[in-house]
Amino acid sequence: MASIRLDGVTRAFGSKIAVNDINLHVDDGEFLVLLGPSGCGKSTLLRMLAGLETLSSGQIHLDDARVDELPPSARDMAFVFQSYALYPHMSVRRNITFPLIMRQHRWWFHVPIIGDLAKRRIERSPEVRDLVDRTAQILALTEMMDRLPKTLSGGQRQRVALGRAMVRKPQVFLMDEPLSNLDAKLRTAMRAEIIKLHRQVGGTFVYVTHDQIEAMTMGTRIALMRDGVVQQFGTAREIYTNPLNTYVARFIGTPPMNLIVAEPDGEAALRLGTTSVAAPPRLTSTARAAGPGLLLGVRPSAFTLDAPDAPGTLPGEVMLVEHVGAESLIAVRLVEAKTAHLDEGDVRDEVMVTVAGYSDLQPGQRVGLGVDLAEAVVFRGADGRRVDAA
Ligand code: ATP
Repeated sequence: MASIRLDGVTRAFGSKIAVNDINLHVDDGEFLVLLGPSGCGKSTLLRMLAGLETLSSGQIHLDDARVDELPPSARDMAFVFQSYALYPHMSVRRNITFPLIMRQHRWWFHVPIIGDLAKRRIERSPEVRDLVDRTAQILALTEMMDRLPKTLSGGQRQRVALGRAMVRKPQVFLMDEPLSNLDAKLRTAMRAEIIKLHRQVGGTFVYVTHDQIEAMTMGTRIALMRDGVVQQFGTAREIYTNPLNTYVARFIGTPPMNLIVAEPDGEAALRLGTTSVAAPPRLTSTARAAGPGLLLGVRPSAFTLDAPDAPGTLPGEVMLVEHVGAESLIAVRLVEAKTAHLDEGDVRDEVMVTVAGYSDLQPGQRVGLGVDLAEAVVFRGADGRRVDAA
């Protein structure tokens, strides 16, 4: 196990800065998730950790040892690829054993017959066999050790790839979207496997994904990236409840946080359109200090649907109702209040509301939206930064 420290890590490809001045300290035994949309630089950062990509500037330390100038083989990290990267002509057992064979590699391993005999001797030695068998057992691969990768399902292949990383007993496991080739059900199952694996083997994990659910469920901490820059580094809970800017607020959570134009309204309320909504002092005092141009961040679950003229509610019109099992997602157009439309595809002045159970509302129906601001947050509209105390 090892802690990882990134200081000013930067990588440019020509004029494109793929990773821009990243400073992170990952504790020993942590499960760090690098999360962000396609092209934000997470794979480049992972590859720099592995030694597969050079740094333009900055340093990487593993515990107290500087590693960014070492070759990949000297870093004591194992990389698990999205594509599994298994050897197609080798059995599952040989694939898992392969890193242990390579550890004892001699030039004559390449000589036909002699090389193969030598590899087989290593494979059959009691300590190697024992380690490989125990690994296979943890990953439920015992029954398929003699099969070739092409006869395995995607999930089984991914487990072989994990096994190959585990037998090396590395200080750090690096994983680049290892579940992205699997179907939704298998992803959920493998997600649980990897969390269990982290608990069992206890190494430091760095895991790349663009899937916020994976990040939220797996990571002890998440670094959410955009355009090569870490936007926020924290636990899933911190990032969900205390987003530092509108980008983070909108990236985490499905449907995302709503951003409604707001202004201060006395000491105990905020005004949304023409409606005055009771707000905690945390919001009202900072809103008053920050001045105009505020965006109020409200999670879809903080709304309640009421009669059209119920006092203290925002007048709205139901646009769409989607039933997704235990809850209903409802798009409501605000009649008076305004929303910020930051992303392409955002519909102007619509908010997303989630309610438990099956909603009988119909598109076109008028409603009054109650809003509970206990968990709401406030951003500055001009630059999207958080203004109430995080
Ligand atoms: P994805 O999820 O799509 O893999 P990512 O977040 O992992 O995306 P990277 O692969 O790290 O993103 O790429 C970050 C940026 O750097 C992208 O704009 C990409 O085009 C660019 N980039 C990456 N590798 C190279 C390279 N070898 N040469 C030029 N540009 C590169």
